[in-house]
Amino acid sequence: MSKVKSSETVKVVIRCRPLNRKEEAAAAGVTRTPGGVGGIVEMDMRLGQVVLWNPHGPPGEPRKTFTFDSVYDPSSKQRDLYDETVRPLIDSVLDGFNGTIFAYGQTGTGKTYTMQGVWLEPERRGVIPNAFEHVFTQISRSSADRQYLVRASYLEIYREEIRDLLDPNMHAPHVPNVHTHTYRTLELRESPESGVYVRDLTSCVCKSVKEIQELMNLGNQVRSVGATDMNEHSSRSHTLFLITVECSLPGPDGRQHIRVGRLNLVDLAGSERQAKTGVHGERLKEAAKINLSLSALGNVISALADGRSGHIPYRDSKLTRLLQDSLGGNAKTVMVATLGPAPQHYEETLTTLRYANRAKNIQNQPRVNEDPKDALLREFQKEIAWLRAQLSHREGRGKHRKEEGEEGWDGEGDEEGEEEVEKERTLQEGRLEEEKEAIREDGSLLAEEKQRLLGEKERMMGDLKKEWDATEQLTAKYKAMESKLLVGGKNIMDHTNEQQKTLEIRRQEIAEQSRREREIEQQVMVQDEETLELKETFSSLQQEVEAKTKKLKKLYAKLQCVKAEIQDVNDEHVRSRQELEQTQNQLTRELKFKYLIIENFIPPEEKNKIMNRLTFDPEEDQWKFTPLVPAESQFSQMKKRPASAVGYKRPISQYARVSLVMGAHSRYRAENIMFLELDMTHPTTVSLDHRPSEVGPNYSPYPTDNVPHRERAARVRMSRSW
Ligand code: ADP
Ligand code: MG
Repeated sequence: MSKVKSSETVKVVIRCRPLNRKEEAAAAGVTRTPGGVGGIVEMDMRLGQVVLWNPHGPPGEPRKTFTFDSVYDPSSKQRDLYDETVRPLIDSVLDGFNGTIFAYGQTGTGKTYTMQGVWLEPERRGVIPNAFEHVFTQISRSSADRQYLVRASYLEIYREEIRDLLDPNMHAPHVPNVHTHTYRTLELRESPESGVYVRDLTSCVCKSVKEIQELMNLGNQVRSVGATDMNEHSSRSHTLFLITVECSLPGPDGRQHIRVGRLNLVDLAGSERQAKTGVHGERLKEAAKINLSLSALGNVISALADGRSGHIPYRDSKLTRLLQDSLGGNAKTVMVATLGPAPQHYEETLTTLRYANRAKNIQNQPRVNEDPKDALLREFQKEIAWLRAQLSHREGRGKHRKEEGEEGWDGEGDEEGEEEVEKERTLQEGRLEEEKEAIREDGSLLAEEKQRLLGEKERMMGDLKKEWDATEQLTAKYKAMESKLLVGGKNIMDHTNEQQKTLEIRRQEIAEQSRREREIEQQVMVQDEETLELKETFSSLQQEVEAKTKKLKKLYAKLQCVKAEIQDVNDEHVRSRQELEQTQNQLTRELKFKYLIIENFIPPEEKNKIMNRLTFDPEEDQWKFTPLVPAESQFSQMKKRPASAVGYKRPISQYARVSLVMGAHSRYRAENIMFLELDMTHPTTVSLDHRPSEVGPNYSPYPTDNVPHRERAARVRMSRSW
């Protein structure tokens, strides 16, 4: 397959969860609402439409209709969403594309349910476990000339800090309490080769579904243990599970080519508006940070959907930088927006639908990542080839000793080969042992000669053992390396039977079919509206008037909808502006407070000194001090830094030394404030009013020898000049 470079839009699907028990109870007395009993959302899965009903609006208010790539109503199954929407994306990742799925929505609407679901129930497993199965099944079914390397990473963004959830330090046994253990926060870096990446992020090679599931569990444990309130934590943090699939396959030129597909599985923080009003100081900054990534994501989506603004504010948050490729870049992206059907969340539901509606217009340019320089698979292959060569070389030497002309090490490391090697080893050892025995029993040799020969044989045995051990180590390393690579056509999983495969293909076909049907329906709907006018011929004026009146009514209703929409958007805009202004006011107030302190209590020259040294680091979004000694002159100036050691005086400059000799220079008085010699004066003792009867007859507060007690320890005495 050649490199594909084309443009495609972000796929946006909507999923509505069923009413929960509380909502059902609340809806018990309510008459039937348009979105089923108690619900305000109506979905047309065939057309891909969501209709929202305003529970607080006037009776005649038109409903809001949105059209998406697909919609999933409360009765839809996890499998439906997977087969129709996710499966094609994962297939693309296996072909070397970048793929991203993110779940967006208010807390409690089913983001985590969609992404993870209930692991133990196959029917209710979410996107992530299904994707794991899918990746490894596809690998086991691919042709035998392909080699795969699968890696996984897991991270969390919480208050604009990136935390590695697979950090080995977090999982090490010496970490007694994860509560008190601080997370290592990671930094983002950008390279022309692989785009934006997280520096030092742990990435683990996975050989099977079980292994990758265990990784996810490990990460989830760190998350839940580290958080004091898991619910709050999960609704305020974003989690990203990254899977990198590298595949090496023979190209048309006969050489091996490597394709790298990266899959981002993202469970975003709850999209509900965080109340910032009434919060001050540190708490305000915290509140501002919590949803910074989400509002930045909204801005990026708006800027991209708008298509007019040249500047896309990716750099405004960690999340948007990480998803830079997924939004408007080199990736295929699916956004799952989740809704709740309850009337009390009307506002949030509408915001989510608008957000999702905007994201539909984002254009991406996905392409196959072919032969990137940083492919790990290439390094693995090189290392394996080297180890194989080493082993073959050793084998060759062994054979040479045996004087047999067989082939070199075949590298397969199968059972038979191992047995052979073991046999060879015992054979050689046996032979040496026999020779030793023969020497011992040889009567014609002198005792000294015997000893020498035996020693020689001993040494040979030692050498042989060393060599075997080294070979064993190499073989183990070779096997460990090779086992990490997955080869196509091998059954890594047991259920690759034909029936299952056929079933999956059927399901895929059905999903494809219904997707196409929906697309056609949507197109027909749009065309109908456009061509209605052209098709109409009127037999009488009366008829024409009627038809046109009907149309006018329809258009009028549409106009009302659009007007209402404009009003809504305006209101929302005003609201968010007010909120921003409020935040700004509070920040300004805080700034004034800090200014007051600085202006009145910090000497101006000190302030200037500090200010001159400060520079802004956009990478970390922080002010930093420039080092006092510039980097280039650092070595020349710091060449002879005196070693500091306890008991030494601190270094004195030449000038200070001269000044001291010249007389008591007031400036250097402090250089000599301590005398460390013994204080020989007698103590000014105070007689203790103790009662010997209580303490004992021989008691004395001082040691009994005649040395004054103060001399026993060196004392520090203040110099008189102080
Ligand atoms: P979020 O991650 O968006 O905060 P959750 O995924 O935790 O929300 O979902 C909240 C609750 O709703 C969970 O108890 C979950 O089981 C349930 N739920 C969500 N979506 C569905 C669905 N489509 N079908 C059944 N239950 C769901
Ligand atoms: Mg969640």
